[in-house]
Amino acid sequence: MRLLVLEDDVQVARGLTEELVRAGYVVNSFGTPSEADQAIQRESFDVAIVDLGLPQEDGLSFIRRMRDQGVSLPILILTARDTLDDCVTGLDAGADDYLTKPFRLAELLARLRAALRRRHADITSLLTVGPLQIDLRTHEVFSGDDTFDLPLREREVLESLMVASPAVVKKDDLVQSLAGWQADLSANAIEVYISRLRPKITPLGLTIRNVRGIGYRLEEPKT
Ligand code: CA
Repeated sequence: MRLLVLEDDVQVARGLTEELVRAGYVVNSFGTPSEADQAIQRESFDVAIVDLGLPQEDGLSFIRRMRDQGVSLPILILTARDTLDDCVTGLDAGADDYLTKPFRLAELLARLRAALRRRHADITSLLTVGPLQIDLRTHEVFSGDDTFDLPLREREVLESLMVASPAVVKKDDLVQSLAGWQADLSANAIEVYISRLRPKITPLGLTIRNVRGIGYRLEEPKT
């Protein structure tokens, strides 16, 4: 499950990200609405956690803009603005939930779980590339009756490749999506995951093509 955090306070963003990663989420954190906007256009997230007091553009305006563009990503506002009026305005702007700072972590995690349940109740969760399928809800990978029991990070890489296929996934984006703020992951590590994945999917006729200088592309069997 991948979360987008839009929060300009570096300390808050870091603390929040650490807690969310500890809770098992992949987290990408951004300090400005324009960075978050670009990421949303380019990649897929399960929930966005959005602060309201932001540089360049207020969070409310950002949320209205996302909804105007047809972005359906669930948005949870996390803000110090704590009046009833603020909450109503936030929800009316297009947010799905509203939580005020200081917040209790257990409550945030419960609200995230609720948002994810609602989200996955109304999207098709099965993605198919050639003979391979992934359930985006449970992250189960399978081909016909065979389930692929992949280590977490290999599975995350494969999922990114499947979501993007037949487009190329940039190596930097793979590093980003796996590492989030835990920037301990090198580009070399991605190569290791790719090299472990290849022999597992080759028997299905799938190929992970190395696009030099850019990244990787998952290709279906040639017919
Ligand atoms: Ca702020």
